[in-house]
Amino acid sequence: RTVLRELTELQMKNPDISPLESLPDTDPNVFYKRYLKKIRDLGEGNFGKVMLYVYDPANDGTGECVAVKSLKHEGGGHHHEGWMKEIEILKSLYHTNIVKYKGCCSELGGQVVQLIMEYLPLGSLRDYLPKHRLGVAHCLLFAQQICQGMDYLHYKRYIHRDLAARNVLVENKCLVKIGDFGLTKYIPEGDVYYRVREDGDSPVFWYAIECLKESKFSFSSDIWSFGVTLYEILTHCDPRQSPPAVFPRDLVVPSYPLAKCLQKQKQMCSFQQVHLLMRQCWDFDPARRPSFKSLIESIEEIRK
Ligand code: ADP
Ligand code: MG
Repeated sequence: RTVLRELTELQMKNPDISPLESLPDTDPNVFYKRYLKKIRDLGEGNFGKVMLYVYDPANDGTGECVAVKSLKHEGGGHHHEGWMKEIEILKSLYHTNIVKYKGCCSELGGQVVQLIMEYLPLGSLRDYLPKHRLGVAHCLLFAQQICQGMDYLHYKRYIHRDLAARNVLVENKCLVKIGDFGLTKYIPEGDVYYRVREDGDSPVFWYAIECLKESKFSFSSDIWSFGVTLYEILTHCDPRQSPPAVFPRDLVVPSYPLAKCLQKQKQMCSFQQVHLLMRQCWDFDPARRPSFKSLIESIEEIRK
């Protein structure tokens, strides 16, 4: 203890001497800003911005690549609270199809500002799919992995509320993971839905009918969003066919025209079984939609 105190005092006087965090009892989840070297921007959404950094505490080029997410608009206690929740949620999730939490980086003496995650080199499905025209079987592999990650999330009693191709990350050509838990909510045992009060930038084109009409979010509304995500995957995230592009501007019942538009598209006819799954995900009655567990099985059947 005394040695540690002396070292700390010494360090405060001479910030350049050997860093405290190189001691063996260092918390591996604590990242120090001074060892983070920015490489490039990876992407941004409504609230966050994600950048690629190399974390190299030894400063000898042996560092590792990490994805660093920070809030786009600093300040605002309300945003900060949600941001801390997002970090806590990601920290509590361990699954092959969910992006891995690595740690946090705090400003000296300040609040936690950055979330450190594993870096997925191929970016989001929205970056990846337009460049790699995958066949149906490959699309279904990705879809099934999304269902596996989502099934785990639901088992933990979280609803994602923002499932979309932009929030699914690609590790390699055989593995995708769900990222971005910024809108995720915990549903206590016994409850069935979460009602939103704040009305921020909502990903309305991915929202289930009851979310739009009554602001009610449930496990079943994630299933609806999965249906839209499946649609995005099968259309290779082509911006001309994206949900906002094909929905009419009338937001009252956006899903119905989407289903109709799919029927019209000749290319979708060959995907009849997949199309049927999508339609089940878009049942106006949330209780009649499948669960992620049953979707995993249905997709398995189609893939056979
Ligand atoms: P927001 O909450 O603002 O939507 P996201 O977490 O969805 O932020 O990240 C925004 C974008 O950054 C993603 O769509 C993706 O392109 C990229 N991105 C996010 N996390 C990673 C990661 N771990 N590895 C690589 N790219 C990432
Ligand atoms: Mg996002």
